[in-house]
Amino acid sequence: MTQVVDQVEHIYEEVIRRNPGELEFHQAVKEVLESLVPVLERHPHYAEHRIIERICEPERQVIFRVPWVDDSGRVQINRGFRVQFNSALGPYKGGLRFHPSVYLGIIKFLGFEQIFKNAVTGMPIGGGKGGSDFDPKGRSDGEVMRFCQSFMTELHRHLGEYTDVPAGDIGVGAREIGFLFGQYKRLTNRYESAVLTGKGTTWGGALVRKEATGYGVTFFIDEMLKARNNSFEGKDCVVSGSGNVAIYAVEKIHELGGKVVACSDSDGYIYHKAGINLETLKQLKETERRRIRDYVEIHSDAKYHHGGNIWDVPCVVAVPCATQNELDGDSAKTLVKNGCIAVGEGANMPTTPEGIKVFQDAKVSYGPGKAANAGGVATSALEMQQNASRDAWSFEFTERKLREIMRDIHQACFETAEDYGKPGDYVVGANIVGFTRVAEPMVAFGVV
Ligand code: NDP
Repeated sequence: MTQVVDQVEHIYEEVIRRNPGELEFHQAVKEVLESLVPVLERHPHYAEHRIIERICEPERQVIFRVPWVDDSGRVQINRGFRVQFNSALGPYKGGLRFHPSVYLGIIKFLGFEQIFKNAVTGMPIGGGKGGSDFDPKGRSDGEVMRFCQSFMTELHRHLGEYTDVPAGDIGVGAREIGFLFGQYKRLTNRYESAVLTGKGTTWGGALVRKEATGYGVTFFIDEMLKARNNSFEGKDCVVSGSGNVAIYAVEKIHELGGKVVACSDSDGYIYHKAGINLETLKQLKETERRRIRDYVEIHSDAKYHHGGNIWDVPCVVAVPCATQNELDGDSAKTLVKNGCIAVGEGANMPTTPEGIKVFQDAKVSYGPGKAANAGGVATSALEMQQNASRDAWSFEFTERKLREIMRDIHQACFETAEDYGKPGDYVVGANIVGFTRVAEPMVAFGVV
C-alpha cells in the first residue's frame, strides 16, 4: 500500500511541477488520485502502463487569439481555448465556457473532470473542454455573434463529429451555440449536425438537452435519498445559481415534491419562503436576461440579500449549480448544523475539499458533479445518436432515458464504493468507475 501511495504522491507532485499556477487543475487531479490507490493495488498493470500519468497529460491543447469588433467599432481581443484531454472512449466531448475568469487552469480542470464524467455515463465519448475569457454579460446580440464567429473561425479546424464535439457551459447557451454552428457550417460547407450539441430543437437539437443537467442532478439526488429510505417530498431545498442548470433543477425538484426556497446569481441571493416561482425565474433569466434581485419586484414576500452566503439558508437538500469552489468548509458546517442530509452537485467542483470532508464526516449523502451532473453530457450523447440516425425522439422518451441513465450512474457508483470498502462514498465510486472504464481501452491501444 505504502509503495502505491508514494507512487501516486509522486505523480501528483509531477502534475504540479509541469502545470504551474493551474490551481483548479491541481485540485481536480488530487481528488481523483486520492481515490485510485486501491485500484492500483488491485490492478498493478495500470501502473506498469503508466495510465494515470498519461491521463493527467492532455492529448492536445489549443490556445488562440479571438479578435472581434464591438458595437462602437473598437477592436477587442480575447483568448480562446480547447483542451482535448482524452479520446480513449470516443470523440472529445465537453462544453465551452465564456466567462472573464477563464484561463488554462480552469479549462484543464473541467476537461480532466469531463474524462471521468463521460466514462461514468457509459456512452462512447471522450473528454474535452474549451472556452474563452470573453464576458457575454452586457454585450449586444451583434457583439456576441461577432465574437462567436471569430472564435469558430479558428476552432472549426479542430472539430468534427468523429473528432471533437463541444456543447454549452457557463455563458454559452442556445444563442451562442446557434452562432457557433452557423459559422461552422459556413466555413466547412457541411451540415454536420453532430459537431455541436445543445442546438435549437428546430435545427437538430434534442428535446430535453436544455433541461438535462438540472433534471439529471435532481434524479441523482432522488436516488441518493431513496438509498437512505427518503425522498424529496415536503423538503426545503436550496439551489445556487439561476442559469441553465439551476432553473431546471428547480423545475424537477418541485415536480418531485420538494420546495426550493432560495437561488442566486453572482451578485446575491433571494429567499422565498413560499417557494421560488419558476415562471418568474424563467422570465427573468431566460427571456429577459435580468438579475436575480429583480425577482422581489414581482414577489414582494421574497427577500433579496446582496452579497451574503446562500448556504446560510436552512435546507434539507443543497444543490450547488453556479461555479467551482462556491461551497467551502464553513458553509458545509452551516448546512450540516441546519439539518442538510443530501448535496448534489449541478456545477463542476462547487464544493471545496474541506467542504467535502465535512459532508462525508457528517454522513451527508454527497453526490460529486462527475456523477450527479452527468445527465447533461449524457443527453448530448443522445443528441449525437439522433443526429447520426436523422431521428428526433419525443420529450417523454428522452426524459425516460435520462432517468434510467442517472439511475444506472447512481447504482454503478454506489456498488463500486461498496466493492472497494467505502460504502456511501460516491466520490470514490465515481472516480473508480470512470477511471477503470478509460484505463481498459488505453491499455488495449498500446502506447499512443
Ligand atoms: P449559466 O451561465 O447558465 O449559469 C451560471 C449561473 O451561475 C448564473 O446564475 C451565474 O450568475 C452563476 N455564477 C457564475 N459564476 C459565478 C460566481 N463566480 N459566483 C456566483 N455565481 C456565479 O451556466 P450553467 O447553468 O450552464 O452552468 C452552471 C454550472 O454547471 C457550471 O459549473 C457548469 O460547469 C456546470 N455544468 C453545466 C452543464 C450544462 O449542461 N450547462 C453540464 C454540467 C455541468 P451570473 O449571471 O451573475 O454570472
